[in-house]
Amino acid sequence: MESRTYTADAAPGNTVTVAGWVHELRDLGGIAFLILRDTTGKIQVKFEKDEMDEQLVETGLGVHRESVITVTGAVEEEERAPTGVEIVPESVEVIAEADPELPLDPSGKVDADLSTRLDNRTLDLRKAEVQAIFDIRAEVLRAVRQQFRDLGCTEINTPKIVATGTEGGTELFPITYFGAEAFMNQSPQLFKQLMVGSGLERVFEIGPIFRAEEHNTPRHLNEATSIDFESAFIDESGAMDACESVVRAAHEGVAQNCVEQLETLGLTEEFEVPAGDFPRLSYEEAIERINATGALDEPLVWGDDLPTEGEHALGADVGQHYFITDWPSEIKPFYIKDHDDDPDLSTGFDLMHPELELVSGGQREHRYDHLIEGFKQQGLEPEAFEYYTKMFRYGMPPHAGWGLGGERLVMTMLDLGNIREAVIFPRDRQRLSP
Ligand code: ATP
Ligand code: MG
Repeated sequence: MESRTYTADAAPGNTVTVAGWVHELRDLGGIAFLILRDTTGKIQVKFEKDEMDEQLVETGLGVHRESVITVTGAVEEEERAPTGVEIVPESVEVIAEADPELPLDPSGKVDADLSTRLDNRTLDLRKAEVQAIFDIRAEVLRAVRQQFRDLGCTEINTPKIVATGTEGGTELFPITYFGAEAFMNQSPQLFKQLMVGSGLERVFEIGPIFRAEEHNTPRHLNEATSIDFESAFIDESGAMDACESVVRAAHEGVAQNCVEQLETLGLTEEFEVPAGDFPRLSYEEAIERINATGALDEPLVWGDDLPTEGEHALGADVGQHYFITDWPSEIKPFYIKDHDDDPDLSTGFDLMHPELELVSGGQREHRYDHLIEGFKQQGLEPEAFEYYTKMFRYGMPPHAGWGLGGERLVMTMLDLGNIREAVIFPRDRQRLSP
């Protein structure tokens, strides 16, 4: 297929060979059209039955939709064609015939439910609007990587098979590792922290995290893509600055480089790069504002985690991305540092989109004795984490960082109703294949 021309590049005056899928066949009697689709778009192929070789017409119009074909012919200008040009075929070759019955209709004329779409993701991804989501996802990852490099971070890759969990035992997937119990990692948390004490100082990772979430929700996956940042010699405020810059860079990348995809998704008007600084609300202000909305039957009291309805009420009230800072120490993990002047208050923060949580982060506890104490308070055995804790005895700088859910970022940017729309092959309670 060396000499294959993309449909988007087929220019009038040239003879080309295009390759792709049969998107549509329209037989108007004496004249018929085949619409061929490839990754760059579509092109019309015109068959004038009386003027063309019978065999050629038969091959071109006898093929089932979604079959893979090549068409060789002259490209001509044609005002009435969808793209302003059409191909007058000299030859048509059927490369891979598709069954006449398809599990879903890639032309999008017949709606399919999400489950059918996910079962047949290859066909689903032949739809321009689905392809657009994954083009945008790829751009988000590119822009985020670039921003991390601009922030002076080194990209790292840490193990996904681990001996212990970090975020509490309930969400772990156990596996068998040469006869011993091991787990799929929930977060690169401890590994990335260890790297701020190395010569690298400032790192990022984009990789899978595994969470045995008990319930299917529109915003939880059992395998998600975590975008992690960790840096030596910054506090939670510096970590929030970095977070804001990365989230903004992702939006800017999409605004600049995915104009067509946004158009395909009908989001040209709606899509916005978040402007201005993200407000930083303390946890205390957050619960007061939620209570003032009257959205909850029971008002929140200090120490409560924010229920989903509370997050929604506050999100509607704030109306943009915002941070919640200064969480009660008791509801944040052991590795988050408490404020020096108030041990009940932590340096933990969340970045919220009006609809849901995007990021959790904070300054980390880098003092060995406090760290060991924190493990015990959380009911974890410090011995199991010796590989981690012992490095805090050999010169661990103050540091801070965060983890951002990649799919949640894409989901909020594109206003997708379900996080599964942002993953090619999602993993949830019911879905382990494809
Ligand atoms: P939530 O309260 O929304 O379940 P969390 O506080 O348990 O999230 P963290 O441990 O703080 O999640 O993880 C950091 C980020 O990773 C979250 O803010 C979110 O963007 C993302 N994330 C966590 N768990 C999942 C999941 N199961 N599916 C998709 N993204 C997730
Ligand atoms: Mg969180």
